[in-house]
Amino acid sequence: MLEVVQLEKDYGDLRVLNGVNFRVREGELVSIIGPSGSGKSSMLRCCNLLEQPTAGQIIFDGLDITREDVNINAVRQNMGMVFQQFNLYPHLSVLKNVTLALRYVKKMSTHEANELAMRALEQVGLKHKADARPNQLSGGQQQRVGIARAVALKPQIILFDEPTSALDPELVNSVLAVMRELRGLNMTMLVVTHEMGFARDASDRVLFMDGGVVAADGKPEAIFSATDNERLRSFLSRFH
Ligand code: ATP
Ligand code: MG
Repeated sequence: MLEVVQLEKDYGDLRVLNGVNFRVREGELVSIIGPSGSGKSSMLRCCNLLEQPTAGQIIFDGLDITREDVNINAVRQNMGMVFQQFNLYPHLSVLKNVTLALRYVKKMSTHEANELAMRALEQVGLKHKADARPNQLSGGQQQRVGIARAVALKPQIILFDEPTSALDPELVNSVLAVMRELRGLNMTMLVVTHEMGFARDASDRVLFMDGGVVAADGKPEAIFSATDNERLRSFLSRFH
């Protein structure tokens, strides 16, 4: 589904990704953990070319999307993205926030877009808030709208960059619950997270990024009981 090969990223003289390799298979939820500054966001943003990789390949659905002749806008329609900041349009209703891309990117009729959007809102438990404005919702509800917006486009994969980091602690679980449900529906997801409980019990695999590389890649049981990787052990010890 998604394969990252020898990915490198420099910001000027600063090398932040130094040969990242991993793959995500269809239906998998892969979590990415690692210290601040290790390159998690840079890596995720390279996956849909929000950042231009310096070297390496991003192979999505069999196509190397770093090739110059690739229409990245077409590719991005199949890759949802959910950010830490919800990036909702404050002057639009919840429903319109979800239908916007359906209508203008996917060129759906209003009727068709509304139907899909209502289904996505139902999935995240917010059908009853369709007519509300974002500022009438809690942070957790706003982030669930962000997820509905991604889901409605029926992407092949959704990339999440710390979707719960901006939330008050009591709102985190409502968002993680929606993500768990999506996993149950076999949505393919790549999730940067500091929620170790989620990474441990909701992931098929966990990647530990450190110093611009994937320093460990394995099943959660293996990652969270790793005793041979000093950096990983030290990172995880901060969460206990
Ligand atoms: P965090 O957990 O704090 O979100 P991260 O693992 O997501 O960290 P990145 O945001 O990818 O880390 O940053 C990796 C390195 O790249 C950091 O040293 C950061 O300062 C640097 N960096 C990120 N974006 C840019 C940019 N646009 N220009 C220059 N340097 C950048
Ligand atoms: Mg980050």
